[in-house]
Amino acid sequence: MLAQKYAVALIDQNDVPQPRIGESLVPAARRVLRDMNLLEIINERGYAPYLGNRSAWGQDSFTVTDFLQDPDGPGWHLDRVDFETTLRRTAAERGAQVIAPVKMRNAKRHGQTWTVTLNEAGSINARILVDATGRKSAVARRLGNRSTSRHKTVSVWAHLKDNLVQPPDSGFSSVISTEAGWWYTASLGARRVLSLHTDSDLVRSEQRFGRGLLEQAMKNPLLEPVLHGCVATAGEMCSVAAANSLILPRASGYAWLAAGDAAGALDPLSSRGIFHSLYTAFAGAMEIDEALVSGDLNKFDTYAAHITEMGRTNHEQEHLFYQIETRWPDAPFWMRRRAEEQFVAPQSG
Ligand SMILES: Cc1cc2nc3c(=O)[nH]c(=O)nc-3n(C[C@H](O)[C@H](O)[C@H](O)COP(=O)(O)OP(=O)(O)OC[C@H]3O[C@@H](n4cnc5c(N)ncnc54)[C@H](O)[C@@H]3O)c2cc1C
Repeated sequence: MLAQKYAVALIDQNDVPQPRIGESLVPAARRVLRDMNLLEIINERGYAPYLGNRSAWGQDSFTVTDFLQDPDGPGWHLDRVDFETTLRRTAAERGAQVIAPVKMRNAKRHGQTWTVTLNEAGSINARILVDATGRKSAVARRLGNRSTSRHKTVSVWAHLKDNLVQPPDSGFSSVISTEAGWWYTASLGARRVLSLHTDSDLVRSEQRFGRGLLEQAMKNPLLEPVLHGCVATAGEMCSVAAANSLILPRASGYAWLAAGDAAGALDPLSSRGIFHSLYTAFAGAMEIDEALVSGDLNKFDTYAAHITEMGRTNHEQEHLFYQIETRWPDAPFWMRRRAEEQFVAPQSG
């Protein structure tokens, strides 16, 4: 958006977007994509429709939420690499200078100008800096803002080959709570994503391999019907991703703001991380435009307060949701989430 009006440089440490988990894009994203003039472009990619959720949480059977009742219609089961490649390409077509693979090493402000030091590529100067480095919050951290979290949730995940032609959960994401945490699975055509969300100290060694993860999941009677056509490559390790909610003490400062996971990352149970990233990118861009037009680069207080409020709402919803599951009162994963906690807005360090 900003690149159509200002000189924008987009830096990424990866040459091309990397495969990753997180493909369910909620229907509400349609509105933000439309506002960003991206909806047609995303529709043209032909991603599989995301029709709803099946959730076995606090009970032994699924409750189905069908997006037929959602005013925004279906969402998308994205191909993440293609989605991010499309966003990057569109940014370039709209005028952004994409600099990759280059890692940001440091960011310092001298008067009105930021100097961003890059590995092997010198440095670039900018009036405004956006931290969109994901959970690392690499810029905010260098400015003394460290995000905080209550839990050590990780996702142990694998992409499996799926031989079922018409999986019974086609178009739906499934969430199933279990003693050790919760499972997530979704069919991605010839592939299927399978993930166990648990605490980092509770991951068992056999779960670190695709085969071990699949074997364990197959023991769950709700997962077996969708997994019996799946194959994991022998010896292939699972990926492990941090999956806890995080929030920055302050998502902005003089001439900088954080967007997406860098500002606040959500527990994937919400399935709203990408939506949140698109929304904060959009809101942040509007604030930056206003600041540049007015010349007041200290204008991001409302934005930061908005992010803190989103963190509070997310904290409350997450807490409520985890309280619903009461079947394993002595299991560490659930005990850790049962403790009543007030949201305390984190303080800048
Ligand atoms: C297990 C799991 C499952 C999830 N499932 C879903 C889901 O189903 N639906 C959903 O909506 N969301 C989901 N999410 C969340 C979603 O993936 C994130 O919210 C989203 O990717 C955040 O986007 P972002 O652009 O803010 O950060 P990222 O996608 O993390 O992008 C950050 C970028 O910054 C670059 N970068 C980092 N540091 C530097 C540096 N120093 N220099 C240069 N570049 C740098 C990285 O290379 C990367 O490209 C899931 C998350 C997890 C962990």
